[in-house]
Amino acid sequence: MRNRICLLLFLCIFLLTTAAYAQQSLDAMVDRDIAALVATYKTLHAAPELSHHEEKTAAFFANQLRTLGYTVTERVGKYERPEWTGYGVVAVMKNGAGPTVLLRTELDALPVDEKTGLPYASKVKAQNDTGQEVSVMHACGHDIHITNMLGTAKMLSELKAQWRGTLVLLGQPAEEVIDGARAVLRDGLYDRFPKPDYVIALHDSADLEAGKVGYTPGYAMASSTSVDIKIRGLGGHGARPEATKDPIVVAAQVILALQTIVSREDSPLDPVVVTVGSIHGGTKHNIIPDEVDLQLTVRAYKEEVRKRVLASIERITKGIAVAAGIPDDRAPIVKFSETQVTSATYNEPQLTERLAAVFVRTLGQENVVKLQPVMMSEDFGYLSLDQKVPATLFTLGAVDPAKVKQSKDTGTPLPSLHSALFQPLPEPTLRTGIKAMTSAVLELMKK
Ligand SMILES: [Zn+2]
Ligand SMILES: [Zn+2]
Repeated sequence: MRNRICLLLFLCIFLLTTAAYAQQSLDAMVDRDIAALVATYKTLHAAPELSHHEEKTAAFFANQLRTLGYTVTERVGKYERPEWTGYGVVAVMKNGAGPTVLLRTELDALPVDEKTGLPYASKVKAQNDTGQEVSVMHACGHDIHITNMLGTAKMLSELKAQWRGTLVLLGQPAEEVIDGARAVLRDGLYDRFPKPDYVIALHDSADLEAGKVGYTPGYAMASSTSVDIKIRGLGGHGARPEATKDPIVVAAQVILALQTIVSREDSPLDPVVVTVGSIHGGTKHNIIPDEVDLQLTVRAYKEEVRKRVLASIERITKGIAVAAGIPDDRAPIVKFSETQVTSATYNEPQLTERLAAVFVRTLGQENVVKLQPVMMSEDFGYLSLDQKVPATLFTLGAVDPAKVKQSKDTGTPLPSLHSALFQPLPEPTLRTGIKAMTSAVLELMKK
């Protein structure tokens, strides 16, 4: 009996020291690399590129990974428009038999004119897809994600003795316009390269403190569908409404009636948003126009809910036009975008809870928080192939804790993602992200 207790004690001490040693060595490795990584982040931050134009960012990312010993393929991604180049990067490291884990970072930035005043702020201007010159900024923190991936890639290449399986690192283009994930899948991401058993990503947060990570099991972000409605009437003189079919009044009725989809048709337990974000029609006070254009965004979690909402939008719009006496050949045209659409982000609960437990061990209980889902969208969900591959996207705190406190104390909101003032705190954010991502992979691929 005594021997057994001794053995148990020895085992406990052995396991604890090994865990503590692994933790210590990861900390030491991050300490060693952090200055270089912050420098990389600042370089990337000063040189952002728009969606569909991530040429230099992708080349830099690919070269770094090649130097670390990964087998790298560039120019992965096929868009519906053949004139766009897919700047996706896929880096693979095989390390014996075991699971395949895919880590994803986005590569693109946004048409935002940076106003942070930082010494490494972007001054870049570039042409967008329609040839207009716009300012460009990494206002969503994808430069944090790229740097984080490079740091993690280095750790894992050095810690090869501690894991087995195949690691796939994806540099995904065009997330901000939500056609990048589909483009890399269309170009054979899961045929030409090892198909993952798990998919993991992180996204920085504009309100969570640097040093913390967040997780959201289940639906975390909504699907998004852009809808265009053209309400067609019969125009004429503003003083002779009886001789017209006024599309402005019909548009007003449609906008109000659409509100009943969420309030009267949808279950209160299925979150949905129907927002009319744009309305354009008419030229002058005394002219009843022929047409009014509406632009909507629809958000939902479940696919069947999304489909039902889209059907309701079409039914209500066409029904109101009929009620207004608009002839059939002038019926409203309702278009659901096939390109500005993305699926929901569903964080497979078992995987998410398993990694949250790893984060608690690596970062401490006080630095791991469970977060509420949001109705924002992202195209990460496609990489799970409609929830067939367990996937999870966790949240990386990126804001100076003093600023979070000040914001809470004064009730003044912090600059959000996509804001010209968004300013992540590089060092603690990267430290936390690299430790979290590395330990997540070591958990899933442990020997
Ligand atoms: Zn974004
Ligand atoms: Zn983003």
